Amino acid sequence: MKRPSRSWRSPLDNPASAVLGTIALPLDGLKRKTLDRFFRGIRGDSEVPPPFAYGAGRFSPTGRGERAVPTTALAKACARYFVLIMVDEFRTSQMCHACRRRLQAVAKRSADGTIHEVRGLRRCCSTECKRVSFKDRDHNAALNILRCSREAQRPQYLSRNTEQPGLRNPFFMLRGDSASGISGRATSMLN
Ligand SMILES: [Zn+2]
Repeated sequence: MKRPSRSWRSPLDNPASAVLGTIALPLDGLKRKTLDRFFRGIRGDSEVPPPFAYGAGRFSPTGRGERAVPTTALAKACARYFVLIMVDEFRTSQMCHACRRRLQAVAKRSADGTIHEVRGLRRCCSTECKRVSFKDRDHNAALNILRCSREAQRPQYLSRNTEQPGLRNPFFMLRGDSASGISGRATSMLN
């Protein structure tokens, strides 16, 4: 059994990722009762604690996820209802879960002309993902985290030991006349 390293970030910065995607946890009122109600609700009536792939900053660089001693209120609450499998989050939000290639960040121009990144959105430029090129950043990461927790070996494309070529265009610029219209279209194409 391994303890999380010192560089392990608070899960409050990285909401837990579950089997069905990313959980949006309200960040206020994180009392034990609130957390228990939250995780009890997700667990449902399962009699044995189901496995829960938990994205935990830097953790277990070599292997698949491991059972671990939870150290934060959030992880402890989760562990009361699930078997926690801690997964190193390295590259999980940078690489496409579907085609295993690097994702582009997405940027847009605001009404005042400034360009900024669209948080939570990524784009895959591979032909494999042509029909669903926009990805929800957290959902994509959750699927990568889930894969790491299930496979005997951490997949190569998410490994700290392999180089990943960069992209010629690390940013994808959204085009359109209004910011809200752009987001609306992009969201409807999300995978
Ligand atoms: Zn892809």
